[in-house]
Amino acid sequence: MKGHASSTEGLCCCEYENNQGEKSHILACCCDCEAFDQAADRCITCRQVPPETMERLFKTIEDRCRVPGILGQGAIKLRLDVIVPVITIPVCLFLATIGPVMTAVMLTMMPIFLLWFYRMWKRNTKKDRTLFFYSWGLMSVVTIFVVFESCVVGFREILLWEHLLLLTAMFLMLYNFVRTKLNTPYLKNLKRPRNFEKMNQSDRRIVNADDTFKVPMSLEEMTAVELPESDVKWLDSRPITDGKLVTWCQHCNLNKPPRSGHCNLCKVCVSVRDHHCVWIDTCIGADNHRSFIISMMLFVFCGYYGCHLSMTTLCTPKMYFDWFLFPNDCRFLYIDFQTSASFVGTCYTFLASTIMLFGLIFQFLLISQNLTSQEFHIASQRNMLRHGLFATKNVYNQGFIHNWFNFWLTGRKDTRTSVITL
Ligand SMILES: [Zn+2]
Ligand SMILES: [Zn+2]
Repeated sequence: MKGHASSTEGLCCCEYENNQGEKSHILACCCDCEAFDQAADRCITCRQVPPETMERLFKTIEDRCRVPGILGQGAIKLRLDVIVPVITIPVCLFLATIGPVMTAVMLTMMPIFLLWFYRMWKRNTKKDRTLFFYSWGLMSVVTIFVVFESCVVGFREILLWEHLLLLTAMFLMLYNFVRTKLNTPYLKNLKRPRNFEKMNQSDRRIVNADDTFKVPMSLEEMTAVELPESDVKWLDSRPITDGKLVTWCQHCNLNKPPRSGHCNLCKVCVSVRDHHCVWIDTCIGADNHRSFIISMMLFVFCGYYGCHLSMTTLCTPKMYFDWFLFPNDCRFLYIDFQTSASFVGTCYTFLASTIMLFGLIFQFLLISQNLTSQEFHIASQRNMLRHGLFATKNVYNQGFIHNWFNFWLTGRKDTRTSVITL
């Protein structure tokens, strides 16, 4: 087998060694692909493409997705899951500017394509973790920002304070997303729950099988436990496998504190785990849940406020109650490229903000009960939900006001929220 140094030796900026070890050129990306020929043959003759052919085709596309390198290392390989949104989003939004029918078609096709590509990616690369959603989200924000700044602001109808308000909120949103990504509360290599020494005695209670509480006197008492399912009478985030609640994580080699969970994508246990957010490719838990909620709220605000500014610019607005402008006459939305691009960007932003709003409302519902998404999921599996929304036997629920107070003050740190310490 050739070493790395020899494999890139003598390659010009556009050449590379492909996954069969042969020298290839990036301009040959569409030539000589056996898997593509087979797939095309089968498609033309209306026969199903075998999964192995699809897998080979996917691998070949991935291998040929390259740009010229300038440091003498040959053509640089790009991640297909990163590059696909970078091309798809501007192209789809550009096509959507053609007319109202194309706008409807493209905005419907984009989420379908998103799910289809992810399924294909998972099936053919056998990988669970992908930067596809992260790249999609980032590219969407960048594209919409460029459209807003170059098209909508170009009409010169937005006041300076309105523009500054939007830019400030957007900056704060990105800042909070970065904070969320940097502060993921991973539990790897921790021998004890975070901040155990600082925890109040009352916060360190152990719930026994008979629902009584006791306070562990030492860290040794916090050893791994296996409890039969029938004895677990409270809502616990740790999954029950083979009829037992097991607190030991064999992947991370640690005793999982209450409310924590192992993430199969991050491959590590996370403190007070809520969920893995694919859009920023990180787990949400104790340390970053607050900044995550702030960024979601700012996203929704920026989205709807940006839509309002765009629509009152593109349509003839009418004033209501002497202070609220509302778009009134919207007959000329496709009159030129600048207007139609602004309108398409607005529709896309409105859809994204609405989806985000639903996610935010769900998060509010959970925070009101001091519940994580993971606990909610477990509660639905174990029939511990009232009206499908409210968890029963939730020992962390300290009342609506207290829950919210705790969330904003401590950001769901486990110093305050660890009630059960099995
Ligand atoms: Zn783990
Ligand atoms: Zn994760």
